[in-house]
Amino acid sequence: MIHLNEVTKVFDDGFVALSNVSLKIGKGEFAFVVGPSGAGKSTLIKLLFREQLVSAGEIIVNGRNLTELQPQEIPYFRRSLGIVFQDFRLLPDKNCYENVAFAMRVIEASRRDIQRRVKHVLDLVGLLPKAKIYPAQLSGGEQQRVAIARAIVNNPAVLIADEPTGNLDPETTWETMRIFERINQSGTTILMVTHDKPIVDQMMKRVIALENGRITRDESKGVYGYED
Ligand code: ADP
Repeated sequence: MIHLNEVTKVFDDGFVALSNVSLKIGKGEFAFVVGPSGAGKSTLIKLLFREQLVSAGEIIVNGRNLTELQPQEIPYFRRSLGIVFQDFRLLPDKNCYENVAFAMRVIEASRRDIQRRVKHVLDLVGLLPKAKIYPAQLSGGEQQRVAIARAIVNNPAVLIADEPTGNLDPETTWETMRIFERINQSGTTILMVTHDKPIVDQMMKRVIALENGRITRDESKGVYGYED
């Protein structure tokens, strides 16, 4: 599903953000990426989205070799991924339903498919009763649930989450993690960058640790393992 083969990323100023990283994440896996600030976690995500290009090595996501993607193919490639950010990134002038539906409108899905699918994913995250509410009227946890619904509405094979619970209190964090678990159980591969030690320690999923641009640990049923 995700395959990094000896990936190195050197920035223009010569800084080596990732060094010889090899990694395989299989279909249906749930993997955490942990590591101190500056370790290279965001760089890894940007490479997976083809927001940046590798300096050396190769990345294959959903069977596509990202180095070989033509510029015009990038938007199509990105539609096979879902992404959730720490700061939700909802459109403030659209209600919950429209925020989620928007992701389907851009792929020109039919009205009927949009209605059916948006209702389904809003129900999955427990927000169908709030479909007509605007983001500003929602709690942080609810906003993140809308963002998750939007990320999965087009049925991506891979869901990437960049510190999705970073702005949430512990109780809301757990509710959100249960939603991610449910999504994973339905077959979606999940890669999640997090600084949330209790989550990582209790979920007992695969843990990939990065430090100074290198993988220092890769354990199934791992622990957080850092003092932040
Ligand atoms: P993390 O997400 O783990 O905190 P990042 O991937 O954001 O780490 O950054 C890794 C390192 O790469 C940091 O030291 C950062 O300063 C550096 N870096 C990130 N982007 C650039 C850039 N465009 N040019 C030069 N250095 C960069």
